[in-house]
Amino acid sequence: MTIRTANEQPIKHNFIAGEWRPSLEYMENINPSDTNDVIARYAIASSNDVQDAVSAAATAMPVWSNSTSGERFEILDAIGSEIIQRQHELGDLLAREEGKTLKEAVAEAHRAGSLFKFFAAEVYRSETEGYRSLRQGISLEVRREPIGVVAAITPWNFPLAIPAWKIAPALAYGNTVVFKPAELVSGSAWALAEIISRAGLPEGVFNLVMGQGTEVGAALVEHADVAGVTFTGSTAVGRKIGATTFARGGKMQLEMGGQNPLIVLDDADLESAVEFAINGSFYSTGQRCTASSRLIVTEGIHDTFVAAMLHRMQGLRIGDARNPDTEIGPVVSEAQLNSNLDYLRTAKIEGARLLTGGEELKRATPGWYLSPALFTHATREMQICREEVFGPIASVISVSNYDEALLVANDSDFGLSAGIVSNDRKIIDHFTANVQAGMVQINLPTAGMDFHAPFTGRKNSSYGPPEKGSHCREFFTNSKVVHANYGERLKPKKEGS
Ligand code: NAD
Repeated sequence: MTIRTANEQPIKHNFIAGEWRPSLEYMENINPSDTNDVIARYAIASSNDVQDAVSAAATAMPVWSNSTSGERFEILDAIGSEIIQRQHELGDLLAREEGKTLKEAVAEAHRAGSLFKFFAAEVYRSETEGYRSLRQGISLEVRREPIGVVAAITPWNFPLAIPAWKIAPALAYGNTVVFKPAELVSGSAWALAEIISRAGLPEGVFNLVMGQGTEVGAALVEHADVAGVTFTGSTAVGRKIGATTFARGGKMQLEMGGQNPLIVLDDADLESAVEFAINGSFYSTGQRCTASSRLIVTEGIHDTFVAAMLHRMQGLRIGDARNPDTEIGPVVSEAQLNSNLDYLRTAKIEGARLLTGGEELKRATPGWYLSPALFTHATREMQICREEVFGPIASVISVSNYDEALLVANDSDFGLSAGIVSNDRKIIDHFTANVQAGMVQINLPTAGMDFHAPFTGRKNSSYGPPEKGSHCREFFTNSKVVHANYGERLKPKKEGS
């Protein structure tokens, strides 16, 4: 439900137990391309709201977990259809509040719709697997049952796609949901919730509670009636959530940060390598967990690659995310911009050389604009190569050969996405087998877009069953092993046997 304040600023409520519930407090959502533009004011959930949302979701479990495949399909498919039909409007809102370019934002809205449609179809996949028992005449099957109330806690950088790939499977497998989006993107979350609220779900099956992570998110994670937490966000927060969830015996699926390498070898096609690096490092303003922040380049191609990058970067169009000509939008918030500036300062102090970019830019409207930055002479020990930067900043690390490149690529606390640009099949095979990452890109820019395949990482990047595709069933269901004797008389055991 939307109501307007006296100055015509819309205010948006939480959705709890089938109702749009007003709150005592609201927070403003600001457009990073034009900080004078306040999008709306969004409710901050109280601890009572969280309590009510979890209790509504728990009460709705028996109804929803007993719904038929057909009922689930119709609802999820209808949600997907509406998102796709409204992708331009939703994409525009996403670009306005998060700063992703319009093209990327519309594509993300489309993907969110497709995710609902994919999981709509998944409801028809058999949830039971049969096995041959070791005992004659005994039937043995493994059933899948929903886990219960799922808390979906999401970050700001994919405000439609990530909630979609958590909410859609949670509902498809018969769970109920309490959704806690990131504060910076309440608009996209609210729009998604509004669509879900009209799709015909029984009361309490889906709930939206907006507000601060440290309060609203933490209250959800601590709640004894939340059976599972599916979280995407930073590694620091993920670890905290993981410890709390583990301590109370909850299930968890944690997708966290990245520091992703892209290896460029001497035999690489230069033009493609530059395009993959530009896309991977700077598109979505570098605010992707899969961003290629470390460009590991062999000596033979290093200088030509760096020169070509410089040339390409000087032509990048940085501006208002909603301007169709813009290639790189603003940084999402002032805090994020300051964090990027800190990384730039430290990199210089540590001895990396700034080739281009890293400057705050002025545009027609006040916004958090930063020109994409490229460092050379970076080493794997530098903070900029070890921590997740999460901004339009990349560094080139020069290496002598493929072996060293692989060593540097794997020398990281993260292990999400790793890429290589080369035409040497033997090396590519070796890299694929030996790189420590959940996702590998061969002669492609970094991505995690295929919703029917798992999305997963290693080390500090992921914990628990993967997201997306049928693989996410491991998180959203519990197994039950059923041994049955339908009429076979078990022979009595002989004495002494
Ligand atoms: P964040 O960790 O600050 O917040 C993520 C979510 O957790 C938000 O909804 C936030 O409100 C909530 N939260 C914060 N503190 C909490 C607490 N104590 N208890 C419960 N909830 C809490 O992350 P962010 O800044 O929103 O997003 C950027 C991060 O997300 C980056 O590290 C990025 O790599 C990561 N990310 C990972 C993936 C992936 O799939 N691996 C995808 C996208 C983003």
